Order: sequence, then structure tokens, then C-alpha cells
Amino acid sequence: MQKLFSIFLNSSGYPFKSFTFVQENNAYYELVVLNLLQTENTIMYSIGGDKARIEKIDSFKNFPLAQKYLRSCIYSEENCNICGKCVRTMVALYALGELDKYSKVFNIDYFYKNIDRYIGYTLAHSKNEHYRECLNMMKKKNMLISEEASRIAKVLDAAQKICDKNKDFIKSKIRRN
Ligand SMILES: [Zn+2]
Repeated sequence: MQKLFSIFLNSSGYPFKSFTFVQENNAYYELVVLNLLQTENTIMYSIGGDKARIEKIDSFKNFPLAQKYLRSCIYSEENCNICGKCVRTMVALYALGELDKYSKVFNIDYFYKNIDRYIGYTLAHSKNEHYRECLNMMKKKNMLISEEASRIAKVLDAAQKICDKNKDFIKSKIRRN
């Protein structure tokens, strides 16, 4: 890689003000990680940390090529439309009123057919700032959240609590052995 790139720009996962060391997600401390990955030939920068994720997505308005080439997915070459990164990007674009312009890179029909699931998932993950930003934008624009989306959020929340409880139980068993 160092023979190909002298500068590598990495879009920050979280605003710099959210910097912290947490085990679950190295995006919170990527400034340190990127610094450690540098070589004498390749310099790595984290960029966009002065903006919230939804502000960065909003700035795509100034780059029409994004409508043709935007890739949010971390699981496949084409956007899968269902992973966390795709969901929050699609919901952010929806909240910004821009989603319909992205039919070349996202399955817009699938989104609207399953909009309650997308919004329900977003509600269920509102502790995460990326999802919360989408909900705040929707609230700012007086966009309605259906009862079905709220119901789905409650189901997902209950399922997550069961998973967390089981995870804690398994961890406690592992510690004892
Ligand atoms: Zn995806």
C-alpha cells in the first residue's frame, strides 16, 4: 500500500469530541490507531471528525457522484441494504429528504416496503449517536414515526435485553471455569 498511497484519508467514525477508549469499537480512538499504522511513506489522517455523521451525509448534496458511487456497506461490495451501516445511512438520507436520489446504490423500493422496520431498528438503537442523529433530524422535520415502527422497536429492545442477559450469564460461567 505504501508504494501506492502517500496519504490515506479515513472518514472518522465518530466526532473527535467523542474520543474514548472502549473495547467494543476502535472507531472511537481511531486517531491513535491511524497514527500507529503510518509508515515513512504513507501518512494517515482521520477526517470529518468536526462534524456529526448526518452532517457529513448531508454534505453529499454537494457531490452528485455520491448518488452513483456511495458505498456504506462493510459486508459486501454492493450495499446490502440491511446491515447496521446501510440502515443508518439509508435512514439518515431519508431523514434528510435525500434518499430517493440514491436509487442507484440502495434498494429504495425495499426501504419503503419495510420502512417501519428501518425506523423501528433506528429507534431500538437510539442510544448510539448515529441512529439518534437520524431520529433528531426526523423530529426536527416533524416526520411521523408510525405505531408499527414503535412496536418493532419495543420487540427489538426486548430481544436485545434477553441477548445481553444471556451474554452476562455466559461470561459469568466462563469466569468461574
Ligand atoms: Zn450493508
